[in-house]
Amino acid sequence: MKARTRREREVEELSRRLAPLSSSDMEFARTAGVEHTGLYTGKRVKCTECGHVWQQQGLKKQVRCPHCNTLLTLRASRCKKASEVCYMVVLQSCRGWQVCRYFRLKWSCPVNGGRTLCVDEAVQHWIGSDGKLIVLARPRIMGFYIDNFNYKEPMSIKRNVSYSAWHLPYWAVRVKSVLPVLRRNGYKQNLFAMQPYDLFCLLLTNPFAETLYKAGYGNLLRILDYRRVLHDDNYIAAVKIVLRNHYPLKSKDDVVMWLDMVESLIKLDKDVHNRHFVCPANLKQAHDRAMEQVRRKQELERRRTIAEKLRKDKKLAKSYVKRMNKYFDLLFTHGNIVIGVLKSVAEFEEEGKAMHHCVFANKYFAKENSLVMSARVGGERMETIEIDLRDCQLVQSRGVNNGISPYHDEIVALVNANLFQIRKLSGIA
Ligand SMILES: [Zn+2]
Repeated sequence: MKARTRREREVEELSRRLAPLSSSDMEFARTAGVEHTGLYTGKRVKCTECGHVWQQQGLKKQVRCPHCNTLLTLRASRCKKASEVCYMVVLQSCRGWQVCRYFRLKWSCPVNGGRTLCVDEAVQHWIGSDGKLIVLARPRIMGFYIDNFNYKEPMSIKRNVSYSAWHLPYWAVRVKSVLPVLRRNGYKQNLFAMQPYDLFCLLLTNPFAETLYKAGYGNLLRILDYRRVLHDDNYIAAVKIVLRNHYPLKSKDDVVMWLDMVESLIKLDKDVHNRHFVCPANLKQAHDRAMEQVRRKQELERRRTIAEKLRKDKKLAKSYVKRMNKYFDLLFTHGNIVIGVLKSVAEFEEEGKAMHHCVFANKYFAKENSLVMSARVGGERMETIEIDLRDCQLVQSRGVNNGISPYHDEIVALVNANLFQIRKLSGIA
C-alpha cells in the first residue's frame, strides 16, 4: 500500500535508509536459536553443520562431530539433506522510532556439504514514542503456512490488521538500541516472552503496566494483558494489594493460579481490596477453596432459576389440579404410614426440596400419565411414589436422595394393596 500520512511517508523513507545487518549481527544469527542436528540413517551420521559423514553404531541422544567438533543432537532420518527455519528480531531505534525488524533465518544442509544460512527480512514494526504502530512488510503468499512471504517483492506499508496483530514466532532477540523513553519506563531487555510490540506499547501508554514491569512482575503483566483485564478495576485493585505487600508472584504458574483465584473472588463478591483474600499464605489452598465456592454458588443459582421458572408457570399448575383433582381424596393408611397424593405444584417443590430428588426439577407434575404420592411415617416424609395411570402399576418408590427407606417394603405393599382404588377412579376395570 502507498504511504498516505506524513508519518507513514517518514517511516517509508527511514526504512530505506536502515543499514543491512552487520557482520556481528550475522554472527549472532549463526549461533542463535539453532539446534545443531546430526542425521542418523541407521549406520551413518551426517553432521548438518559441516556435512561430514561417519560410521556410528547405536543411536545416542547427542554426539560430537569428529570433523568440526560441534555437539549434535541426533535425529533418525532417511533424508540426506535438511532445512530449518527460525526467526530473529532485531531491536534498534531510529530517529525517535523503536524499530523491531523480523528476519527469517533459513538453514539448509544440501546432500553434499555443510549448512548454509539465508537471511531475509520479512516484517518491520515501527513504534512511535506515543505507542502507535506502523507496519512495513513483504506481501504474504497464500498457502498452508502462515509465515509465507514473497521475498522478491519490496516491503511496503501494511494497514491490514493481520500484519500487526499476527506475530511471527521469534527465537532470538538481538538488542542493538532502544528508545530512551523505553529505558526511562523501565525496559531492561527482558521481554517476558511477550512480542516486543505488545510490551513496548504497554510501557509507552500505560503507567500501571510500567509500575508492574519495574517491580519485576513481568509475567503478571503479560497474562493480565493476554486476558484483557489490564483495565478492569477489580483486577487493578487486587494487583495493587500484591504490589504493596510484595506478594511473591514471579513464576508463570503462580500468576495463572492467582488470576484464576481472583476471578473466583470477583464472582463471589469478595473484597478484592482485602489482603486476607488477595495474598493468601497458601495460594494453592486458597485457589482450590475459591473454585469450590464458585462451583457451589453456580449450582445453587442453576437450581434457583429452574425453580423460579417452574413457579412462574401458572398454566402447568392449573392443568395439574384440573387433571388430578379426582385422585386428591385418596389416602392409604396402615399403622402410622400415611400415603397421600401431591395436590399442587408447590407441594412438588416442597417434596423435592425435602427429599433431595428430582420430582420437582424434572416436572413430574407435567407428566400426563403419572400420579405422584408422598408416603409419610408419623408425619415425616419417607418416600415418594410414582404410579403409571395407564395400567395402574407402581413405577418407583424413592426415599431421600433417591435411596430406599427402612419402610420401603411396607410402603410398596400398602400401595399395591390399594391400586384397585386408583383403577376405579381412572375407570379401568
Ligand atoms: Zn561437523
